[in-house]
This record gives sequence, C-alpha cells and structure tokens, in this order.
Amino acid sequence: MSTPRNDRIRFPGDDEIRPTWVEIDLSAFDRNLAAVAAKLPPGMRTIAVLKADAYGHGAVELAQRCAPELVGMIATATIEEALELRRAHIRLPILALGPGTRQQLQIALDANITLGVPGPEELSLIADIAQEREVVIHLKLDSGMGRMGCVESDLPRVAELLRSAPAIRVEAIYTHLANAGNPADPFTKDQVARFHTLIETLREAGITAENYHLSNSSTTLSGAVMEGNFIRVGLLLLGGAPLDGSAERLEPVMRWRSEIARLKDLPPGHAVGYGTTFFTTRPSRIATLPVGYADGYARAFSNRGEVLVRGRRAPVVGRVSMDLVTIDVTDIPDAQVGDEVVLLGAQGDDEISAEELAKKLDTISYEIFCNVSSRVPRLYLDGDVVRIRSRFEL
Ligand SMILES: *Cc1c(COP(=O)(O)O)cnc(C)c1O
Repeated sequence: MSTPRNDRIRFPGDDEIRPTWVEIDLSAFDRNLAAVAAKLPPGMRTIAVLKADAYGHGAVELAQRCAPELVGMIATATIEEALELRRAHIRLPILALGPGTRQQLQIALDANITLGVPGPEELSLIADIAQEREVVIHLKLDSGMGRMGCVESDLPRVAELLRSAPAIRVEAIYTHLANAGNPADPFTKDQVARFHTLIETLREAGITAENYHLSNSSTTLSGAVMEGNFIRVGLLLLGGAPLDGSAERLEPVMRWRSEIARLKDLPPGHAVGYGTTFFTTRPSRIATLPVGYADGYARAFSNRGEVLVRGRRAPVVGRVSMDLVTIDVTDIPDAQVGDEVVLLGAQGDDEISAEELAKKLDTISYEIFCNVSSRVPRLYLDGDVVRIRSRFEL
C-alpha cells in the first residue's frame, strides 16, 4: 500500500540510483505563488526569496516557475547564487541581498543583478563603480536586527555618497524584521516605526526611492505588516509554517522519501547501531534505510525520530549513522524490503512536517530544509513529468 503519489513516479533507469530522494512538487509551488499573489493589496508584488538553493529545494528549478505576472523579483543571499540563476537564463530582476566583495559587485553588475546595499562601506565601493555606469540598488536600513543595514548614524554619509554618485539609482529602500514570527511581539511595531523614521531622515537629506519593502513570510501570512511595494517571501512559498507555534501554511513543496533496504529479525537483548544506545526488548524486526546524517537526516534523530512506513509511524532506533538509519517495524508486520519510507512529508493519512522535525531538533523548519544535502537527488514533479537533479551520473 505505498502511496498513490509514489506509484506515479517513473523515471529512466528506475533502479539505477539509491532509492533516497526528495520530491519537489512544482505545481504546489505554482499554487503557493498564486495564493500569495492573491493575498496582496493592489500594487504590491512578490520578491521570491530563493537563497540557499531555495532552502534546499532548487533555486533554478523554482525560479523557472516564477511567472512575471506573479513574481516581480527574485532574491538570493550571495552573488554566486544570483549568477547561477542568470546562467540558467532567468530573466526576472534579481536582488542579491549580500554582502558581496568589491570584485563580486562588479561581476554582479555585468550580469544585471540588483545589489542589496547593507551599509556605507558597500555604498562607497558602488559609488566608485557608478562613476562609469548606472547602478541599481536596494538600500538596506537597520531597524533593529543589528546585522545588515544602515543605522541612523550612517545616514549622513549614505546621503552624501548618493548625492556624489547620481548614476546610483535607489530603486528601493528596505529593512528586515527580527520577531515577525510572533505577531503579538511589540518589537515589530517598533521596527516599522524606526524604519519610517530612517526613511524620513533620508528624505530630508534629499534621498528617496520609488519603492520600499519589509514584509517576510510571517507578516505576509499573519497580515501583521502589509505595507510597501514588495513582500520578500521564502518559506511561505515552500509550504513551511512561518508563524511561531502555528501550523498555518500553504502547500508543502518538499517530500523526502527512502525505502527499506534490509529487514532483519533480532532476538530480545540485541544491540543496534554505534554506541549501543538501543537494545531490543522483544523479538524485533529492524529495517535499515539507505539514508544518514551525510544526507542531512540529523544524528540528533537517533532514538528520537519517527518515519512513515505504510502510512504508519515507525521509530528510529539506535544512532543515525552517516549513511544508514535503523527503524523498528515490529509493529508494522507487513513491512517489506522496497517499501517507501517517508522522512519528511505525507504518506497515507499521516504526515511528518518540517516543523515537527524542527521541534525535535530545537531548530526551525528553514534549517531542516537547508540541511538536506547535495547527495540527495531532487526529483521535480510537474504533473506526470519528472526531472531529476543529482550530483551523480545516473
Ligand atoms: C531570507 C530572507 C527573507 C525571506 O524570509 P522568509 O521568512 O523565508 O520569508 C526575506 N528578507 C531577507 C532580508 C532575508 O534574508
């Protein structure tokens, strides 16, 4: 009784790869893009944040789905990531949030990448480059993150640099919120107010921008901050739940599955795994899965994780090894070699969400997604069409 969804997956050389992969549901991503666009007030547009390979989902593949009617811009963290998208012929405007080195800034401009400018030092480098050509930037203000962005005392220098370099076009001014995951947290209101004060200070110094933006996934979902000309959303588009302690989300895009590679019956009192952290207490059926912490299935799931087999939960027993995980399927007597095992996502009527996994590791779903390593092939599902991205030859 493997899931109907899995039955649909057919690809050339079915047996040629290790049967551990993540499925990326491109039509779910499309629906999420449309659902986000439908939430926005008129005139507001989406910046799809696809940094860190779209949180492990595949930046190129998702960028290819970003229709210009729904997405105004794509954001990456690094300039390398932005260039990767340009090399894949992504034509939408791309914002590299930065920081970048001087040499990277030049290369980024050659590739028509919009620069996120986090402070006067970067602005000064860009002002040099802008002696020779027009440069489009999004200027970042620090309203309370203490990380990237110009603080109040930077503004006179920023204004002076911008006045001295008329070829710099400030397309937008933006800031980032620290506590947006909790809509009740008053810090967000403080940040919004500080952002407006900083914008006003710049305006008095003669610096304005056509656009501004500050909302992320959490504030977009909760509606707590719905102002500006753009929202910047990553997790929401991937179907992660961005609000603290809430399961509210759009459709999950990633599903991580493996298979039972081996099954063995062990007598009571038999050890399992490194460190002998688990001993069977009854006649037990132990399944071995071809996935491990090198794939991003955290070692901290040792004796704590659960996976889905035939729509039912099976506990991880013993330590998670680099390449292998052992689970106890004694209570799923019909389990067989070759059965699908779901580490993240739905199977049958149950689901293991990224938030559930994150809670066990005392982290956030963002990190669960990002941790899925490049050893794990990505299968892109688009209706019945499947494409594979893998580091390895098939
Ligand atoms: C990562 C990031 C975002 C997107 O955050 P989500 O919570 O995934 O929506 C937005 N803005 C900046 C500056 C970021 O670094």
